[in-house]
Amino acid sequence: MPHPHLQLDHVRLGYRMPTGMHVVVDDLSLALHEGRIGCLLGPSGCGKSTVLRAISGFEPLLAGSIALHGEAVSTPRRSLAPEKRRVGVMFQDYALFPHLSVDDNVGFGLRREPAAARTGRVRELLSLVGMASLGGKYPHELSGGQQQRVALARALAPRPELLLLDEPFSSLDVDLRERLAGEIRDILKEAEATAILVTHDQAEAFAMADEIGVMEQGRIVQWGNAYDLYHHPATAFVAGFIGAGVLVPGRRGDNGSIRLEFGDIHASGPVSNNAEVRVLLRPDDLLADAHSPIRARLVHKVFRGPGYLYTLRLPSGSEVLAQMPREDGHRVGDEVGIRLRTGTLPAFPA
Ligand code: ADP
Ligand code: MG
Repeated sequence: MPHPHLQLDHVRLGYRMPTGMHVVVDDLSLALHEGRIGCLLGPSGCGKSTVLRAISGFEPLLAGSIALHGEAVSTPRRSLAPEKRRVGVMFQDYALFPHLSVDDNVGFGLRREPAAARTGRVRELLSLVGMASLGGKYPHELSGGQQQRVALARALAPRPELLLLDEPFSSLDVDLRERLAGEIRDILKEAEATAILVTHDQAEAFAMADEIGVMEQGRIVQWGNAYDLYHHPATAFVAGFIGAGVLVPGRRGDNGSIRLEFGDIHASGPVSNNAEVRVLLRPDDLLADAHSPIRARLVHKVFRGPGYLYTLRLPSGSEVLAQMPREDGHRVGDEVGIRLRTGTLPAFPA
Protein backbone atom coordinates (compact mmCIF):
# COMPACT_ATOMS: atom_id res chain seq x y z
CA MET A 1 0.00 0.00 0.00
CA PRO A 2 1.46 3.42 -0.92
CA HIS A 3 1.64 6.17 1.68
CA PRO A 4 -1.65 7.98 2.14
CA HIS A 5 -1.76 11.21 0.19
CA LEU A 6 -2.53 13.04 3.41
CA GLN A 7 -2.07 11.75 6.93
CA LEU A 8 -2.78 13.43 10.24
CA ASP A 9 -1.51 11.66 13.35
CA HIS A 10 -2.70 12.64 16.83
CA VAL A 11 -2.85 16.30 15.88
CA ARG A 12 -3.46 18.84 18.66
CA LEU A 13 -4.20 22.48 17.83
CA GLY A 14 -5.12 25.47 19.93
CA TYR A 15 -5.07 29.20 20.38
CA ARG A 16 -3.04 31.12 22.91
CA MET A 17 -5.39 33.10 25.12
CA PRO A 18 -4.68 35.45 28.04
CA THR A 19 -5.84 32.61 30.29
CA GLY A 20 -3.49 30.09 28.66
CA MET A 21 -3.58 27.70 25.73
CA HIS A 22 -7.12 26.94 24.57
CA VAL A 23 -6.98 23.52 22.88
CA VAL A 24 -9.64 23.28 20.15
CA VAL A 25 -8.53 20.14 18.28
CA ASP A 26 -7.15 17.11 20.06
CA ASP A 27 -5.88 13.66 19.11
CA LEU A 28 -7.17 14.01 15.57
CA SER A 29 -5.97 11.35 13.12
CA LEU A 30 -7.01 10.64 9.56
CA ALA A 31 -5.60 9.18 6.36
CA LEU A 32 -6.74 10.03 2.86
CA HIS A 33 -5.53 8.23 -0.26
CA GLU A 34 -4.90 9.75 -3.66
CA GLY A 35 -7.99 10.64 -5.67
CA ARG A 36 -10.32 10.45 -2.67
CA ILE A 37 -12.63 13.17 -1.38
CA GLY A 38 -12.72 13.27 2.41
CA CYS A 39 -14.95 15.41 4.57
CA LEU A 40 -14.90 16.73 8.11
CA LEU A 41 -18.52 17.17 9.14
CA GLY A 42 -19.47 18.80 12.41
CA PRO A 43 -21.29 21.66 14.08
CA SER A 44 -19.99 25.20 13.94
CA GLY A 45 -17.05 25.79 16.28
CA CYS A 46 -15.91 22.15 16.47
CA GLY A 47 -12.52 22.97 14.91
CA LYS A 48 -12.94 22.19 11.19
CA SER A 49 -11.39 25.37 9.79
CA THR A 50 -8.54 25.17 12.30
CA VAL A 51 -7.67 21.70 10.95
CA LEU A 52 -7.70 22.97 7.35
CA ARG A 53 -5.44 25.88 8.27
CA ALA A 54 -3.02 23.44 9.89
CA ILE A 55 -2.99 21.30 6.73
CA SER A 56 -2.22 24.36 4.61
CA GLY A 57 0.57 25.33 7.01
CA PHE A 58 -0.93 28.38 8.69
CA GLU A 59 -1.51 26.88 12.13
CA PRO A 60 1.30 25.50 14.33
CA LEU A 61 0.90 22.01 15.83
CA LEU A 62 0.94 21.55 19.61
CA ALA A 63 1.35 17.79 19.17
CA GLY A 64 1.24 15.14 16.45
CA SER A 65 2.21 15.39 12.80
CA ILE A 66 0.86 16.06 9.33
CA ALA A 67 2.37 14.28 6.32
CA LEU A 68 1.87 14.64 2.56
CA HIS A 69 2.92 11.52 0.58
CA GLY A 70 4.52 10.11 3.71
CA GLU A 71 6.71 13.17 4.21
CA ALA A 72 6.16 15.17 7.41
CA VAL A 73 5.23 18.76 6.61
CA SER A 74 4.12 19.78 10.13
CA THR A 75 5.31 18.74 13.55
CA PRO A 76 5.53 20.85 16.73
CA ARG A 77 9.19 21.50 15.87
CA ARG A 78 9.17 21.89 12.11
CA SER A 79 6.78 23.30 9.55
CA LEU A 80 7.11 23.47 5.77
CA ALA A 81 6.11 26.90 4.45
CA PRO A 82 2.52 27.04 3.09
CA GLU A 83 3.62 27.96 -0.46
CA LYS A 84 5.85 24.87 -0.62
CA ARG A 85 3.03 22.45 0.18
CA ARG A 86 1.11 22.79 -3.09
CA VAL A 87 -2.17 22.82 -1.23
CA GLY A 88 -5.03 24.73 -2.90
CA VAL A 89 -7.83 26.27 -0.89
CA MET A 90 -11.37 27.29 -1.74
CA PHE A 91 -13.34 29.24 0.86
CA GLN A 92 -17.02 29.82 1.43
CA ASP A 93 -16.99 33.48 0.39
CA TYR A 94 -15.52 32.57 -2.98
CA ALA A 95 -13.48 35.79 -2.93
CA LEU A 96 -12.93 36.18 -6.65
CA PHE A 97 -11.03 39.32 -7.58
CA PRO A 98 -13.88 41.64 -8.63
CA HIS A 99 -11.75 43.73 -11.00
CA LEU A 100 -10.40 40.70 -12.89
CA SER A 101 -12.20 38.81 -15.65
CA VAL A 102 -13.04 35.14 -15.23
CA ASP A 103 -10.01 34.27 -17.39
CA ASP A 104 -7.68 36.35 -15.24
CA ASN A 105 -9.15 35.02 -12.00
CA VAL A 106 -8.56 31.43 -13.12
CA GLY A 107 -5.08 32.31 -14.40
CA PHE A 108 -4.10 34.14 -11.22
CA GLY A 109 -2.07 31.29 -9.74
CA LEU A 110 -0.25 30.81 -13.08
CA ARG A 111 1.21 34.33 -13.33
CA ARG A 112 4.76 33.03 -13.65
CA GLU A 113 3.99 30.61 -16.46
CA PRO A 114 4.48 31.47 -20.16
CA ALA A 115 1.42 33.17 -21.65
CA ALA A 116 0.59 30.32 -24.05
CA ALA A 117 0.69 27.64 -21.34
CA ARG A 118 -1.35 29.84 -19.09
CA THR A 119 -4.04 30.51 -21.70
CA GLY A 120 -4.25 26.82 -22.51
CA ARG A 121 -4.61 25.83 -18.87
CA VAL A 122 -7.28 28.50 -18.23
CA ARG A 123 -9.27 27.25 -21.24
CA GLU A 124 -8.94 23.64 -20.05
CA LEU A 125 -10.18 24.51 -16.55
CA LEU A 126 -13.11 26.64 -17.72
CA SER A 127 -14.25 23.85 -19.97
CA LEU A 128 -13.89 21.37 -17.08
CA VAL A 129 -16.23 23.47 -14.92
CA GLY A 130 -18.66 24.03 -17.81
CA MET A 131 -17.93 27.73 -18.32
CA ALA A 132 -15.91 27.71 -21.54
CA SER A 133 -17.78 30.64 -23.09
CA LEU A 134 -17.72 32.93 -20.04
CA GLY A 135 -14.00 33.74 -19.74
CA GLY A 136 -14.53 37.41 -20.61
CA LYS A 137 -17.18 38.03 -17.94
CA TYR A 138 -16.59 39.70 -14.58
CA PRO A 139 -17.59 38.15 -11.24
CA HIS A 140 -20.58 40.47 -10.69
CA GLU A 141 -22.07 39.26 -14.00
CA LEU A 142 -22.20 35.66 -12.74
CA SER A 143 -24.65 33.77 -10.54
CA GLY A 144 -23.51 32.42 -7.16
CA GLY A 145 -23.15 28.92 -8.57
CA GLN A 146 -21.10 30.17 -11.52
CA GLN A 147 -18.84 32.13 -9.20
CA GLN A 148 -18.23 28.96 -7.19
CA ARG A 149 -17.26 27.12 -10.37
CA VAL A 150 -14.78 29.87 -11.23
CA ALA A 151 -13.35 29.71 -7.71
CA LEU A 152 -12.92 25.96 -8.12
CA ALA A 153 -11.22 26.40 -11.52
CA ARG A 154 -8.89 28.98 -9.97
CA ALA A 155 -7.99 26.65 -7.10
CA LEU A 156 -7.33 23.72 -9.47
CA ALA A 157 -5.36 25.69 -12.08
CA PRO A 158 -1.89 25.39 -10.45
CA ARG A 159 -2.45 21.61 -10.13
CA PRO A 160 -2.40 21.45 -6.33
CA GLU A 161 -1.46 18.15 -4.71
CA LEU A 162 -4.37 18.57 -2.38
CA LEU A 163 -7.45 20.77 -2.49
CA LEU A 164 -9.10 22.06 0.67
CA LEU A 165 -12.70 23.31 0.56
CA ASP A 166 -13.98 25.23 3.57
CA GLU A 167 -17.80 25.34 3.63
CA PRO A 168 -17.71 26.09 -0.10
CA PHE A 169 -21.46 26.20 -0.63
CA SER A 170 -22.77 27.82 2.54
CA SER A 171 -23.52 31.15 0.87
CA LEU A 172 -25.75 29.46 -1.74
CA ASP A 173 -29.46 28.59 -1.65
CA VAL A 174 -30.25 25.21 -0.16
CA ASP A 175 -31.62 23.89 -3.48
CA LEU A 176 -28.54 24.88 -5.42
CA ARG A 177 -26.19 23.66 -2.70
CA GLU A 178 -26.77 19.95 -3.00
CA ARG A 179 -26.87 20.01 -6.81
CA LEU A 180 -23.66 22.01 -7.04
CA ALA A 181 -21.98 19.74 -4.49
CA GLY A 182 -22.73 16.79 -6.77
CA GLU A 183 -21.45 18.66 -9.83
CA ILE A 184 -18.27 19.71 -8.06
CA ARG A 185 -17.71 16.13 -7.00
CA ASP A 186 -17.88 15.07 -10.67
CA ILE A 187 -15.42 17.83 -11.63
CA LEU A 188 -12.96 16.82 -8.89
CA LYS A 189 -13.21 13.18 -9.94
CA GLU A 190 -12.55 14.09 -13.56
CA ALA A 191 -9.53 16.18 -12.48
CA GLU A 192 -8.38 13.20 -10.34
CA ALA A 193 -7.99 15.62 -7.45
CA THR A 194 -7.53 14.64 -3.83
CA ALA A 195 -9.61 16.90 -1.62
CA ILE A 196 -10.85 17.59 1.87
CA LEU A 197 -14.15 19.34 2.35
CA VAL A 198 -15.27 20.74 5.68
CA THR A 199 -18.90 21.55 6.34
CA HIS A 200 -21.64 21.55 8.96
CA ASP A 201 -24.15 20.51 6.29
CA GLN A 202 -24.83 16.80 6.07
CA ALA A 203 -26.47 16.98 2.61
CA GLU A 204 -23.35 18.65 1.25
CA ALA A 205 -21.07 16.06 2.84
CA PHE A 206 -23.17 13.15 1.56
CA ALA A 207 -23.39 14.60 -1.97
CA MET A 208 -19.68 15.17 -2.27
CA ALA A 209 -17.49 12.97 -0.11
CA ASP A 210 -16.21 9.39 -0.43
CA GLU A 211 -15.47 9.25 3.29
CA ILE A 212 -16.62 11.41 6.14
CA GLY A 213 -15.29 12.10 9.63
CA VAL A 214 -17.89 13.36 12.07
CA MET A 215 -16.33 15.87 14.47
CA GLU A 216 -17.44 16.70 17.97
CA GLN A 217 -15.51 19.27 19.97
CA GLY A 218 -12.20 18.95 18.20
CA ARG A 219 -12.19 15.18 17.79
CA ILE A 220 -13.28 12.80 15.07
CA VAL A 221 -15.85 10.52 16.67
CA GLN A 222 -16.51 8.37 13.60
CA TRP A 223 -14.94 7.95 10.18
CA GLY A 224 -16.87 6.15 7.47
CA ASN A 225 -18.96 6.47 4.34
CA ALA A 226 -22.36 8.15 4.32
CA TYR A 227 -24.26 4.84 4.47
CA ASP A 228 -22.42 3.62 7.55
CA LEU A 229 -22.73 6.92 9.39
CA TYR A 230 -26.47 6.89 8.76
CA HIS A 231 -27.17 3.23 9.48
CA HIS A 232 -24.42 2.39 11.97
CA PRO A 233 -23.70 5.53 13.98
CA ALA A 234 -20.95 4.87 16.53
CA THR A 235 -22.21 7.24 19.21
CA ALA A 236 -25.42 8.95 20.25
CA PHE A 237 -23.93 12.24 19.05
CA VAL A 238 -23.46 10.88 15.52
CA ALA A 239 -26.95 9.36 15.61
CA GLY A 240 -28.41 12.72 16.55
CA PHE A 241 -26.31 14.74 14.12
CA ILE A 242 -26.80 12.61 10.99
CA GLY A 243 -30.26 12.29 9.50
CA ALA A 244 -33.65 12.58 11.13
CA GLY A 245 -34.62 10.36 14.01
CA VAL A 246 -35.35 10.15 17.70
CA LEU A 247 -33.47 8.40 20.51
CA VAL A 248 -36.10 6.48 22.45
CA PRO A 249 -35.50 4.98 25.90
CA GLY A 250 -35.30 1.22 26.34
CA ARG A 251 -33.88 -1.43 28.60
CA ARG A 252 -31.63 -4.29 27.65
CA GLY A 253 -32.65 -7.64 29.06
CA ASP A 254 -30.59 -10.75 29.91
CA ASN A 255 -31.32 -12.41 26.58
CA GLY A 256 -29.66 -9.59 24.67
CA SER A 257 -32.80 -8.04 23.31
CA ILE A 258 -33.96 -4.55 24.11
CA ARG A 259 -37.42 -3.85 25.39
CA LEU A 260 -39.02 -0.78 23.87
CA GLU A 261 -42.50 0.53 24.33
CA PHE A 262 -43.46 -1.16 21.07
CA GLY A 263 -41.87 -4.50 21.62
CA ASP A 264 -38.47 -6.14 21.63
CA ILE A 265 -35.67 -5.40 19.21
CA HIS A 266 -32.02 -6.31 18.88
CA ALA A 267 -29.26 -3.76 19.33
CA SER A 268 -26.50 -3.21 16.83
CA GLY A 269 -24.44 -1.14 19.28
CA PRO A 270 -22.28 -2.02 22.29
CA VAL A 271 -24.60 -1.91 25.29
CA SER A 272 -24.39 -4.08 28.37
CA ASN A 273 -27.08 -6.27 29.91
CA ASN A 274 -29.69 -4.84 32.25
CA ALA A 275 -28.75 -1.32 31.29
CA GLU A 276 -30.87 1.63 30.38
CA VAL A 277 -30.26 2.44 26.74
CA ARG A 278 -31.34 4.81 24.02
CA VAL A 279 -32.32 3.37 20.67
CA LEU A 280 -32.16 5.30 17.41
CA LEU A 281 -35.46 5.21 15.57
CA ARG A 282 -35.45 6.72 12.07
CA PRO A 283 -38.70 7.84 10.40
CA ASP A 284 -38.43 4.92 7.97
CA ASP A 285 -38.14 2.34 10.77
CA LEU A 286 -41.88 2.60 11.52
CA LEU A 287 -44.83 1.40 9.43
CA ALA A 288 -48.52 2.15 9.74
CA ASP A 289 -50.45 -1.01 10.60
CA ALA A 290 -54.14 -0.72 11.38
CA HIS A 291 -54.12 -4.13 13.11
CA SER A 292 -51.11 -3.45 15.32
CA PRO A 293 -51.73 -3.42 19.07
CA ILE A 294 -49.26 -0.54 19.37
CA ARG A 295 -51.21 2.69 19.19
CA ALA A 296 -49.88 6.22 19.01
CA ARG A 297 -51.51 9.63 18.78
CA LEU A 298 -50.84 11.67 15.65
CA VAL A 299 -49.69 15.09 16.87
CA HIS A 300 -48.19 16.55 13.68
CA LYS A 301 -48.44 15.70 10.00
CA VAL A 302 -46.45 17.37 7.25
CA PHE A 303 -46.13 16.58 3.57
CA ARG A 304 -42.53 15.82 2.70
CA GLY A 305 -42.75 14.60 -0.88
CA PRO A 306 -43.16 11.81 -1.78
CA GLY A 307 -44.93 10.96 1.50
CA TYR A 308 -45.89 12.38 4.88
CA LEU A 309 -43.80 12.79 7.99
CA TYR A 310 -45.81 11.96 11.11
CA THR A 311 -44.93 12.96 14.64
CA LEU A 312 -46.54 10.36 16.90
CA ARG A 313 -46.96 10.38 20.68
CA LEU A 314 -46.71 7.03 22.42
CA PRO A 315 -48.69 6.21 25.57
CA SER A 316 -45.57 6.98 27.67
CA GLY A 317 -45.51 10.48 26.23
CA SER A 318 -42.36 10.06 24.15
CA GLU A 319 -42.60 11.17 20.56
CA VAL A 320 -41.30 9.41 17.47
CA LEU A 321 -41.17 10.24 13.76
CA ALA A 322 -42.62 8.05 11.04
CA GLN A 323 -42.37 8.41 7.27
CA MET A 324 -45.66 7.37 5.68
CA PRO A 325 -45.50 6.62 1.97
CA ARG A 326 -48.96 7.90 1.04
CA GLU A 327 -52.03 9.79 2.19
CA ASP A 328 -53.91 7.42 4.51
CA GLY A 329 -56.60 9.80 5.72
CA HIS A 330 -55.24 10.17 9.27
CA ARG A 331 -55.70 13.54 10.91
CA VAL A 332 -53.96 15.20 13.80
CA GLY A 333 -55.48 13.78 17.00
CA ASP A 334 -56.23 10.38 15.45
CA GLU A 335 -54.91 7.17 16.93
CA VAL A 336 -52.62 5.33 14.51
CA GLY A 337 -51.54 1.70 14.64
CA ILE A 338 -47.80 1.32 14.12
CA ARG A 339 -45.18 -1.37 14.07
CA LEU A 340 -41.46 -1.58 13.61
CA ARG A 341 -40.13 -2.40 10.16
CA THR A 342 -36.87 -3.83 11.45
CA GLY A 343 -35.77 -6.07 14.29
CA THR A 344 -32.34 -4.51 14.77
CA LEU A 345 -31.62 -0.87 15.64
CA PRO A 346 -28.58 1.11 16.80
CA ALA A 347 -28.50 1.41 20.59
CA PHE A 348 -26.39 3.55 22.93
CA PRO A 349 -25.88 3.76 26.68
CA ALA A 350 -28.47 6.09 28.15
P1 ADP B 1 -15.36 25.50 12.74
O1 ADP B 1 -14.62 25.79 11.47
O2 ADP B 1 -15.65 24.05 12.95
O3 ADP B 1 -16.60 26.32 12.89
P2 ADP B 1 -13.07 26.75 14.00
O4 ADP B 1 -11.92 25.89 13.66
O5 ADP B 1 -13.22 28.01 13.24
O6 ADP B 1 -14.41 25.90 13.98
O7 ADP B 1 -12.96 27.15 15.54
C1 ADP B 1 -12.80 26.19 16.57
C2 ADP B 1 -12.72 26.89 17.91
O8 ADP B 1 -11.56 27.71 17.94
C3 ADP B 1 -13.89 27.80 18.19
O9 ADP B 1 -14.20 27.70 19.56
C4 ADP B 1 -13.36 29.18 17.86
O10 ADP B 1 -13.99 30.16 18.64
C5 ADP B 1 -11.89 29.06 18.22
N1 ADP B 1 -11.04 29.92 17.37
C6 ADP B 1 -11.01 29.91 16.02
N2 ADP B 1 -10.10 30.80 15.56
C7 ADP B 1 -9.56 31.39 16.64
C8 ADP B 1 -8.56 32.40 16.85
N3 ADP B 1 -7.93 32.98 15.81
N4 ADP B 1 -8.26 32.74 18.12
C9 ADP B 1 -8.88 32.16 19.16
N5 ADP B 1 -9.82 31.22 19.06
C10 ADP B 1 -10.17 30.83 17.82
MG1 MG C 1 -15.16 27.06 9.86
